[in-house]
Amino acid sequence: MESTIETFDFIELERHHGAHDYHPIPVVLERGEGVFLWDVEGKKYYDFLSAYSAVNQGHCHPRIVKALQDQAQILTLTSRAFHNNKLGAYMKYVTEYFGFERLLPSNTGAEAVEAAIKIARKWGYTKKNIPENKAEIIVCKQNFHGRTSTIISFSSDHDSRQHFGPHATGFISIPYNDITALESVLQNHSNVAGFLVEPIQGEAGVFTPDPDFIKKARALCSKYNVLLMADEIQTGIGRTGALLAVCGNCDCTGHCERQEDTYSRPDILILGKAISGGAFPVSAVLCDAHIMDVIQPGQHGSTFGGNPMACTVAMEALQVIRDEKLTQNARRLGNRFRTAMQNYIDNSSIVLSVRGRGLLNAIVINDSEESKTAWNICLKLKENGLLAKPTHGNIIRFAPPLVMTEAQLDDCIAIITTTLSEFES
Ligand SMILES: *Cc1c(COP(=O)(O)O)cnc(C)c1O
Repeated sequence: MESTIETFDFIELERHHGAHDYHPIPVVLERGEGVFLWDVEGKKYYDFLSAYSAVNQGHCHPRIVKALQDQAQILTLTSRAFHNNKLGAYMKYVTEYFGFERLLPSNTGAEAVEAAIKIARKWGYTKKNIPENKAEIIVCKQNFHGRTSTIISFSSDHDSRQHFGPHATGFISIPYNDITALESVLQNHSNVAGFLVEPIQGEAGVFTPDPDFIKKARALCSKYNVLLMADEIQTGIGRTGALLAVCGNCDCTGHCERQEDTYSRPDILILGKAISGGAFPVSAVLCDAHIMDVIQPGQHGSTFGGNPMACTVAMEALQVIRDEKLTQNARRLGNRFRTAMQNYIDNSSIVLSVRGRGLLNAIVINDSEESKTAWNICLKLKENGLLAKPTHGNIIRFAPPLVMTEAQLDDCIAIITTTLSEFES
């Protein structure tokens, strides 16, 4: 009987029994390997979303799967009421990997952003002497930092906010990539604890700021004694052709003496998604001791945070990034992808532009935000064997796993350009 269940039936099951909080591309996936996914009808696809950049290491990476399986047979969860024998080694490994003194373990991206906000506020009260309940955090318009009630309070997206109030206060919103606006807020507000920013705005449509935006923001934060809080949940861990997007043009795999002129070191670094290679929910906040140590026992916590499964899987996933030189591969393939897309765009009326860094890219479709063109292109891409999703009505993000080969990328470029040409007028 099961064998007669097909795509439509799976989708109906979800529709009948689940919350309607997503509008997925109508494909039902059952298997993944490397850059490929297979649906329940046996059709094979290139994955060009990578679970929003969580699967940088490719689907079901054998080393990550083995780490997960091995640890699952030994110990899965103790809670932080007791120590476990993986957490310390994990904290040492990750802090050395990214060059910070302390790590706070958590599970989802939004949870790590929440923790970072708490740390910044408490730092503001105890180290900067901000009057109690007056701390402010600067954020950017069009941001995406997750879906909790505090985080959506400073979203500029109507659907994310409407009817979910009353909204949390203490946030000041400035336009993205606007260093003048940042300086003006810093000049006029003495109670600012942090500036929370994505080095590239992923969900907004891969908005890539001026090359010196983060560097200038770093300098301003230092000048005004404000914490630079980098949300690298989507941009981090090799995705943009650097270990972190804040590394700029530094070509290291995470073990360099970072050069002042390329690396803008955040005070607080927020990671999630690819830190586990998509095998387990893992996120983290990283900063130095003089900031992290404002949090004392009883002031923060998470039952699953720092569990031995998460620690083991994340260490292996980060080691895979380094061993397989995925950062360098993302940089090389990203350049190849944008060059090919630009060549196509030069003779196109349906695509306006391509932008991005490394393998975090997007194309802008020549139609309105409200149009269905990008969605229809994604449906056609699916038919042609490639899975991508619009971030907005007229923007399609392209973010394949970083384990892709050059030949596979060329294959994908052919699928994308052939599909786009069907939409040219
Ligand atoms: C995905 C994402 C988040 C939220 O992560 P979740 O695991 O979905 O809670 C936060 N910030 C950025 C930049 C993201 O891309």
